[in-house]
Amino acid sequence: MRILVTGGAGFIGSHLIDRLMEQGHEVICLDNFYTGHKRNILKWIEHPYFELIRHDITEPIRLEVDQIYHLACPASPVHYQYNPVKTIKTNVMGTLNMLGLAKRVKARFLLASTSEIYGDPEVHPQTEDYRGSVNPIGIRSCYDEGKRVAETLAFDYHRQNDVEIRVARIFNTYGPRMLENDGRVVSNFVVQALRGQSLTVYGDGSQTRSFCFVSDLVEGLMRLMNGEYIGPVNLGNPDEYTILQLAKAVQQMVNPSIEIDYRPLPQDDPRRRKPDITRARTWLNWQPTVPLQEGLQLTIEDFRARLTDTVPSIAEQII
Ligand code: NAD
Ligand code: UDP
Ligand code: UDP
Repeated sequence: MRILVTGGAGFIGSHLIDRLMEQGHEVICLDNFYTGHKRNILKWIEHPYFELIRHDITEPIRLEVDQIYHLACPASPVHYQYNPVKTIKTNVMGTLNMLGLAKRVKARFLLASTSEIYGDPEVHPQTEDYRGSVNPIGIRSCYDEGKRVAETLAFDYHRQNDVEIRVARIFNTYGPRMLENDGRVVSNFVVQALRGQSLTVYGDGSQTRSFCFVSDLVEGLMRLMNGEYIGPVNLGNPDEYTILQLAKAVQQMVNPSIEIDYRPLPQDDPRRRKPDITRARTWLNWQPTVPLQEGLQLTIEDFRARLTDTVPSIAEQII
Protein backbone atom coordinates (compact mmCIF):
# COMPACT_ATOMS: atom_id res chain seq x y z
CA MET A 1 0.00 0.00 0.00
CA ARG A 2 0.98 3.63 -0.36
CA ILE A 3 0.72 5.22 3.06
CA LEU A 4 0.91 8.88 4.04
CA VAL A 5 2.16 9.74 7.53
CA THR A 6 1.68 13.39 8.46
CA GLY A 7 4.05 14.42 11.25
CA GLY A 8 6.20 11.47 10.21
CA ALA A 9 9.48 13.11 11.24
CA GLY A 10 8.23 13.46 14.81
CA PHE A 11 8.50 11.15 17.77
CA ILE A 12 5.58 8.73 17.26
CA GLY A 13 5.42 9.24 13.47
CA SER A 14 9.00 8.14 12.90
CA HIS A 15 8.53 4.94 14.92
CA LEU A 16 5.38 4.23 12.91
CA ILE A 17 7.28 4.79 9.65
CA ASP A 18 9.92 2.27 10.76
CA ARG A 19 7.23 -0.38 11.15
CA LEU A 20 5.46 0.48 7.87
CA MET A 21 8.73 0.44 5.91
CA GLU A 22 9.72 -2.87 7.50
CA GLN A 23 6.40 -4.30 6.29
CA GLY A 24 7.30 -3.28 2.72
CA HIS A 25 4.82 -0.44 2.20
CA GLU A 26 5.48 2.70 0.20
CA VAL A 27 5.58 5.56 2.69
CA ILE A 28 5.22 9.29 2.17
CA CYS A 29 6.28 11.40 5.14
CA LEU A 30 4.80 14.89 5.27
CA ASP A 31 6.30 17.24 7.83
CA ASN A 32 7.16 20.91 8.33
CA PHE A 33 9.92 20.04 10.86
CA TYR A 34 8.45 22.20 13.59
CA THR A 35 9.11 19.59 16.27
CA GLY A 36 10.22 16.80 13.97
CA HIS A 37 13.71 16.14 12.71
CA LYS A 38 15.25 14.56 9.64
CA ARG A 39 17.52 12.44 11.82
CA ASN A 40 14.43 10.47 12.94
CA ILE A 41 13.87 9.17 9.40
CA LEU A 42 17.44 9.40 8.13
CA LYS A 43 17.77 5.66 7.62
CA TRP A 44 14.96 5.66 5.03
CA ILE A 45 15.94 8.75 3.04
CA GLU A 46 17.66 6.82 0.22
CA HIS A 47 15.12 3.98 0.21
CA PRO A 48 13.19 3.69 -3.10
CA TYR A 49 9.86 3.16 -1.29
CA PHE A 50 10.28 6.23 0.93
CA GLU A 51 9.47 9.85 0.12
CA LEU A 52 9.91 12.89 2.32
CA ILE A 53 7.92 16.05 1.61
CA ARG A 54 8.52 19.23 3.56
CA HIS A 55 5.04 20.69 3.74
CA ASP A 56 2.81 22.51 6.18
CA ILE A 57 -0.56 20.75 6.35
CA THR A 58 -2.42 24.02 6.88
CA GLU A 59 -1.87 24.40 3.10
CA PRO A 60 -3.69 22.03 0.69
CA ILE A 61 -1.73 19.30 -1.06
CA ARG A 62 -2.63 16.71 -3.68
CA LEU A 63 -1.25 13.20 -3.35
CA GLU A 64 -2.42 9.70 -4.26
CA VAL A 65 -2.45 7.35 -1.26
CA ASP A 66 -4.38 4.39 0.21
CA GLN A 67 -4.09 5.22 3.91
CA ILE A 68 -3.38 8.37 5.92
CA TYR A 69 -2.02 8.33 9.45
CA HIS A 70 -2.67 11.92 10.51
CA LEU A 71 -0.22 12.76 13.30
CA ALA A 72 1.01 16.26 12.40
CA CYS A 73 0.59 18.52 15.43
CA PRO A 74 3.01 19.52 18.19
CA ALA A 75 2.20 17.36 21.23
CA SER A 76 4.17 18.86 24.10
CA PRO A 77 2.47 21.70 26.03
CA VAL A 78 5.67 23.78 25.71
CA HIS A 79 5.61 23.50 21.93
CA TYR A 80 1.86 23.71 21.32
CA GLN A 81 1.56 26.77 23.57
CA TYR A 82 4.50 28.55 21.90
CA ASN A 83 2.28 29.50 18.93
CA PRO A 84 -1.28 28.57 19.97
CA VAL A 85 -2.92 30.07 16.89
CA LYS A 86 -0.70 27.92 14.69
CA THR A 87 -1.59 24.88 16.82
CA ILE A 88 -5.30 25.37 16.30
CA LYS A 89 -4.79 26.03 12.59
CA THR A 90 -2.85 22.78 12.33
CA ASN A 91 -5.63 20.90 14.11
CA VAL A 92 -8.52 22.48 12.24
CA MET A 93 -7.28 23.57 8.79
CA GLY A 94 -4.64 20.84 8.65
CA THR A 95 -7.11 18.10 9.54
CA LEU A 96 -9.66 19.54 7.10
CA ASN A 97 -7.09 19.39 4.28
CA MET A 98 -6.11 15.82 5.10
CA LEU A 99 -9.78 14.78 5.25
CA GLY A 100 -10.38 16.55 1.91
CA LEU A 101 -7.48 14.55 0.50
CA ALA A 102 -8.84 11.30 2.00
CA LYS A 103 -12.24 12.03 0.45
CA ARG A 104 -10.80 12.75 -2.99
CA VAL A 105 -8.64 9.63 -3.21
CA LYS A 106 -10.88 7.38 -1.05
CA ALA A 107 -8.09 6.72 1.44
CA ARG A 108 -8.66 5.42 4.96
CA PHE A 109 -7.90 8.17 7.47
CA LEU A 110 -6.64 7.68 11.03
CA LEU A 111 -6.68 10.66 13.38
CA ALA A 112 -4.18 10.82 16.23
CA SER A 113 -6.45 12.37 18.82
CA THR A 114 -5.59 12.62 22.47
CA SER A 115 -6.62 11.96 26.07
CA GLU A 116 -6.49 15.76 26.38
CA ILE A 117 -9.97 15.87 24.89
CA TYR A 118 -11.14 14.62 28.33
CA GLY A 119 -9.63 17.76 29.92
CA ASP A 120 -9.44 17.59 33.72
CA PRO A 121 -11.59 14.44 33.95
CA GLU A 122 -14.43 13.90 36.44
CA VAL A 123 -14.60 10.24 35.38
CA HIS A 124 -11.77 7.92 36.33
CA PRO A 125 -10.46 5.91 34.53
CA GLN A 126 -11.57 7.62 31.34
CA THR A 127 -13.91 5.70 29.03
CA GLU A 128 -14.51 6.79 25.45
CA ASP A 129 -18.13 7.76 26.13
CA TYR A 130 -17.03 10.34 28.73
CA ARG A 131 -17.43 13.76 27.06
CA GLY A 132 -14.71 15.55 28.95
CA SER A 133 -14.22 18.65 31.03
CA VAL A 134 -12.23 21.11 28.96
CA ASN A 135 -11.66 24.81 29.57
CA PRO A 136 -12.43 26.33 26.15
CA ILE A 137 -10.50 29.54 26.84
CA GLY A 138 -7.51 28.19 28.74
CA ILE A 139 -3.88 27.88 27.65
CA ARG A 140 -4.32 24.19 26.73
CA SER A 141 -7.44 24.75 24.60
CA CYS A 142 -5.56 25.40 21.33
CA TYR A 143 -4.58 21.76 21.61
CA ASP A 144 -7.48 20.04 23.37
CA GLU A 145 -10.30 21.99 21.71
CA GLY A 146 -8.33 21.75 18.45
CA LYS A 147 -8.31 17.96 18.72
CA ARG A 148 -12.00 17.93 19.65
CA VAL A 149 -12.77 19.81 16.42
CA ALA A 150 -10.48 17.41 14.54
CA GLU A 151 -12.58 14.50 15.87
CA THR A 152 -15.77 16.32 14.86
CA LEU A 153 -14.41 16.90 11.36
CA ALA A 154 -13.45 13.23 11.03
CA PHE A 155 -16.92 12.03 12.05
CA ASP A 156 -18.65 14.61 9.83
CA TYR A 157 -16.56 13.58 6.79
CA HIS A 158 -17.49 10.00 7.62
CA ARG A 159 -21.22 10.71 7.91
CA GLN A 160 -21.44 13.20 5.06
CA ASN A 161 -18.87 11.89 2.57
CA ASP A 162 -18.37 8.24 3.55
CA VAL A 163 -14.71 8.78 4.35
CA GLU A 164 -13.39 5.70 6.14
CA ILE A 165 -12.09 7.03 9.45
CA ARG A 166 -10.35 5.67 12.53
CA VAL A 167 -9.98 7.78 15.69
CA ALA A 168 -7.35 6.98 18.33
CA ARG A 169 -7.28 8.83 21.65
CA ILE A 170 -3.64 8.56 22.60
CA PHE A 171 -2.58 8.81 26.25
CA ASN A 172 0.88 9.99 27.39
CA THR A 173 3.44 8.18 25.28
CA TYR A 174 7.20 8.19 25.78
CA GLY A 175 10.32 6.55 24.40
CA PRO A 176 13.47 7.02 22.33
CA ARG A 177 13.60 10.05 19.95
CA MET A 178 11.66 12.47 22.15
CA LEU A 179 13.36 15.87 21.85
CA GLU A 180 15.80 16.81 24.60
CA ASN A 181 13.88 20.06 25.11
CA ASP A 182 10.49 18.47 24.45
CA GLY A 183 9.18 19.78 27.78
CA ARG A 184 7.09 16.71 28.57
CA VAL A 185 7.66 15.06 31.88
CA VAL A 186 9.51 11.87 30.94
CA SER A 187 12.04 13.59 28.69
CA ASN A 188 12.49 16.45 31.18
CA PHE A 189 13.23 14.11 34.08
CA VAL A 190 15.54 11.84 32.07
CA VAL A 191 17.52 14.75 30.59
CA GLN A 192 17.75 16.50 33.95
CA ALA A 193 18.91 13.32 35.70
CA LEU A 194 21.53 12.59 33.05
CA ARG A 195 22.84 16.15 33.35
CA GLY A 196 22.97 15.90 37.14
CA GLN A 197 20.32 18.63 37.54
CA SER A 198 17.40 18.60 39.99
CA LEU A 199 14.15 17.08 38.70
CA THR A 200 11.48 19.76 38.20
CA VAL A 201 8.24 18.45 39.74
CA TYR A 202 5.31 20.78 39.08
CA GLY A 203 2.92 21.22 42.02
CA ASP A 204 3.28 18.64 44.80
CA GLY A 205 3.66 15.81 42.28
CA SER A 206 0.42 14.11 43.35
CA GLN A 207 -1.15 14.50 39.89
CA THR A 208 -1.16 11.23 37.93
CA ARG A 209 -0.45 10.10 34.39
CA SER A 210 -0.33 6.70 32.68
CA PHE A 211 2.71 6.22 30.46
CA CYS A 212 2.69 4.09 27.32
CA PHE A 213 5.90 3.00 25.60
CA VAL A 214 6.02 4.06 21.96
CA SER A 215 6.32 0.56 20.42
CA ASP A 216 3.09 -0.49 22.16
CA LEU A 217 1.34 2.63 20.94
CA VAL A 218 2.44 2.14 17.32
CA GLU A 219 1.15 -1.44 17.40
CA GLY A 220 -2.22 -0.12 18.61
CA LEU A 221 -2.38 2.50 15.85
CA MET A 222 -1.67 -0.09 13.16
CA ARG A 223 -4.28 -2.51 14.53
CA LEU A 224 -6.84 0.29 14.60
CA MET A 225 -6.04 1.37 11.04
CA ASN A 226 -6.29 -2.14 9.65
CA GLY A 227 -9.26 -3.34 11.70
CA GLU A 228 -12.98 -2.75 11.29
CA TYR A 229 -13.58 -0.59 14.36
CA ILE A 230 -13.91 3.17 13.73
CA GLY A 231 -13.43 4.32 17.32
CA PRO A 232 -12.88 6.54 19.13
CA VAL A 233 -10.64 4.18 21.01
CA ASN A 234 -8.31 4.91 23.92
CA LEU A 235 -4.71 3.81 23.33
CA GLY A 236 -2.56 4.02 26.43
CA ASN A 237 -1.08 2.11 29.31
CA PRO A 238 -3.51 1.81 32.23
CA ASP A 239 -0.69 1.66 34.83
CA GLU A 240 -1.11 4.95 36.66
CA TYR A 241 1.70 6.78 38.51
CA THR A 242 1.94 10.05 40.38
CA ILE A 243 4.47 12.45 38.92
CA LEU A 244 6.45 12.16 42.15
CA GLN A 245 6.60 8.36 41.72
CA LEU A 246 7.91 8.88 38.19
CA ALA A 247 10.55 11.32 39.48
CA LYS A 248 11.66 8.79 42.09
CA ALA A 249 11.85 6.01 39.50
CA VAL A 250 14.07 8.12 37.23
CA GLN A 251 16.15 9.19 40.23
CA GLN A 252 16.71 5.54 41.20
CA MET A 253 17.61 4.48 37.68
CA VAL A 254 19.97 7.33 36.76
CA ASN A 255 21.37 9.04 39.82
CA PRO A 256 19.93 8.59 43.36
CA SER A 257 21.80 11.66 44.64
CA ILE A 258 19.97 14.22 42.49
CA GLU A 259 17.32 16.33 44.16
CA ILE A 260 13.70 17.19 43.48
CA ASP A 261 12.92 20.84 42.77
CA TYR A 262 9.22 21.69 43.28
CA ARG A 263 7.86 24.30 40.81
CA PRO A 264 4.40 25.89 40.42
CA LEU A 265 1.72 23.75 38.78
CA PRO A 266 0.83 25.08 35.30
CA GLN A 267 -2.70 26.42 34.70
CA ASP A 268 -5.37 23.79 33.88
CA ASP A 269 -2.97 20.88 34.49
CA PRO A 270 -5.20 17.75 34.63
CA ARG A 271 -5.10 16.14 38.10
CA ARG A 272 -5.31 12.56 36.97
CA ARG A 273 -5.38 10.50 33.84
CA LYS A 274 -5.75 6.79 33.20
CA PRO A 275 -7.27 5.10 30.17
CA ASP A 276 -10.00 2.50 30.31
CA ILE A 277 -8.78 0.26 27.48
CA THR A 278 -11.71 -2.16 27.36
CA ARG A 279 -12.53 -1.09 23.80
CA ALA A 280 -8.95 -1.54 22.58
CA ARG A 281 -8.78 -4.95 24.24
CA THR A 282 -12.12 -6.01 22.79
CA TRP A 283 -11.96 -4.57 19.28
CA LEU A 284 -8.24 -4.55 18.56
CA ASN A 285 -7.10 -7.37 20.84
CA TRP A 286 -4.49 -4.86 22.01
CA GLN A 287 -2.92 -4.05 25.31
CA PRO A 288 0.46 -2.61 26.29
CA THR A 289 3.28 -5.05 26.94
CA VAL A 290 6.22 -2.86 28.01
CA PRO A 291 6.32 -2.02 31.74
CA LEU A 292 7.45 1.46 32.83
CA GLN A 293 10.83 0.33 34.22
CA GLU A 294 11.74 -1.38 30.94
CA GLY A 295 10.56 1.49 28.74
CA LEU A 296 12.32 4.04 30.92
CA GLN A 297 15.58 2.09 30.63
CA LEU A 298 15.38 2.15 26.82
CA THR A 299 14.54 5.87 26.89
CA ILE A 300 17.42 6.66 29.25
CA GLU A 301 19.87 4.78 27.01
CA ASP A 302 18.67 6.71 23.95
CA PHE A 303 19.04 10.09 25.67
CA ARG A 304 22.44 9.11 27.05
CA ALA A 305 23.66 8.41 23.52
CA ARG A 306 22.10 11.55 22.07
CA LEU A 307 22.92 14.22 24.60
CA THR A 308 26.15 15.14 22.81
CA ASP A 309 24.28 15.67 19.50
CA THR A 310 24.17 19.42 18.81
CA VAL A 311 22.12 19.80 15.60
CA PRO A 312 19.03 21.83 16.65
CA SER A 313 15.55 21.55 15.08
CA ILE A 314 13.46 24.69 14.53
CA ALA A 315 11.65 24.07 17.82
CA GLU A 316 14.95 23.67 19.64
CA GLN A 317 16.14 27.01 18.25
CA ILE A 318 13.09 28.97 19.39
CA ILE A 319 12.40 27.45 22.79
P1 NAD B 1 5.90 15.40 17.82
O1 NAD B 1 5.86 16.85 18.15
O2 NAD B 1 7.17 14.66 18.02
O3 NAD B 1 5.44 15.15 16.33
C1 NAD B 1 4.58 15.99 15.61
C2 NAD B 1 5.12 16.13 14.19
O4 NAD B 1 4.20 16.94 13.45
C3 NAD B 1 6.47 16.82 14.13
O5 NAD B 1 7.32 16.10 13.28
C4 NAD B 1 6.14 18.20 13.58
O6 NAD B 1 7.22 18.78 12.89
C5 NAD B 1 4.94 17.90 12.71
N1 NAD B 1 4.05 19.06 12.48
C6 NAD B 1 3.54 19.89 13.42
N2 NAD B 1 2.77 20.83 12.83
C7 NAD B 1 2.79 20.56 11.49
C8 NAD B 1 2.19 21.19 10.36
N3 NAD B 1 1.42 22.26 10.48
N4 NAD B 1 2.44 20.65 9.14
C9 NAD B 1 3.24 19.55 9.00
N5 NAD B 1 3.83 18.93 10.04
C10 NAD B 1 3.61 19.44 11.27
O7 NAD B 1 4.73 14.73 18.66
P2 NAD B 1 4.34 13.21 18.89
O8 NAD B 1 4.48 12.96 20.33
O9 NAD B 1 5.02 12.33 17.92
O10 NAD B 1 2.79 13.26 18.56
C11 NAD B 1 2.27 12.85 17.31
C12 NAD B 1 0.76 12.95 17.32
O11 NAD B 1 0.22 12.15 18.38
C13 NAD B 1 0.23 14.37 17.56
O12 NAD B 1 -0.88 14.58 16.73
C14 NAD B 1 -0.17 14.37 18.99
O13 NAD B 1 -1.21 15.28 19.24
C15 NAD B 1 -0.63 12.93 19.20
N6 NAD B 1 -0.50 12.53 20.60
C16 NAD B 1 0.71 12.30 21.17
C17 NAD B 1 0.79 11.96 22.52
C18 NAD B 1 2.11 11.68 23.19
O14 NAD B 1 2.12 11.46 24.40
N7 NAD B 1 3.22 11.65 22.50
C19 NAD B 1 -0.37 11.88 23.27
C20 NAD B 1 -1.59 12.15 22.68
C21 NAD B 1 -1.65 12.46 21.33
N1 UDP C 1 -7.76 19.23 -0.14
C1 UDP C 1 -6.41 18.94 -0.22
N2 UDP C 1 -6.02 17.92 -1.04
C2 UDP C 1 -6.88 17.19 -1.78
C3 UDP C 1 -8.26 17.49 -1.68
C4 UDP C 1 -8.67 18.52 -0.84
O1 UDP C 1 -5.57 19.55 0.44
O2 UDP C 1 -6.45 16.30 -2.50
C5 UDP C 1 -8.20 20.33 0.72
C6 UDP C 1 -9.01 21.36 -0.03
O3 UDP C 1 -8.13 22.37 -0.54
C7 UDP C 1 -9.95 21.91 1.02
C8 UDP C 1 -10.04 20.81 2.06
O4 UDP C 1 -9.08 19.82 1.68
O5 UDP C 1 -9.38 23.05 1.63
C9 UDP C 1 -11.40 20.20 2.14
O6 UDP C 1 -11.68 19.62 0.90
P1 UDP C 1 -13.18 19.30 0.44
O7 UDP C 1 -13.11 18.74 -0.93
O8 UDP C 1 -13.84 18.45 1.47
O9 UDP C 1 -13.89 20.69 0.52
P2 UDP C 1 -13.97 21.90 -0.49
O10 UDP C 1 -12.69 21.92 -1.31
O11 UDP C 1 -15.16 21.62 -1.29
O12 UDP C 1 -14.09 23.07 0.41
N1 UDP D 1 5.49 17.90 34.75
C1 UDP D 1 6.39 18.03 35.81
N2 UDP D 1 7.66 18.41 35.51
C2 UDP D 1 8.10 18.63 34.25
C3 UDP D 1 7.18 18.50 33.18
C4 UDP D 1 5.87 18.12 33.46
O1 UDP D 1 6.04 17.82 36.98
O2 UDP D 1 9.28 18.96 34.09
C5 UDP D 1 4.09 17.46 35.06
C6 UDP D 1 3.01 18.30 34.41
O3 UDP D 1 2.66 19.39 35.24
C7 UDP D 1 1.88 17.29 34.30
C8 UDP D 1 2.61 15.95 34.07
O4 UDP D 1 3.94 16.16 34.52
O5 UDP D 1 1.16 17.20 35.50
C9 UDP D 1 2.63 15.51 32.62
O6 UDP D 1 3.07 16.60 31.84
P1 UDP D 1 3.38 16.49 30.29
O7 UDP D 1 3.72 17.86 29.82
O8 UDP D 1 4.34 15.39 30.04
O9 UDP D 1 2.01 15.99 29.62
P2 UDP D 1 0.46 16.38 29.83
O10 UDP D 1 0.29 17.38 30.92
O11 UDP D 1 0.05 16.90 28.50
O12 UDP D 1 -0.15 15.08 30.18
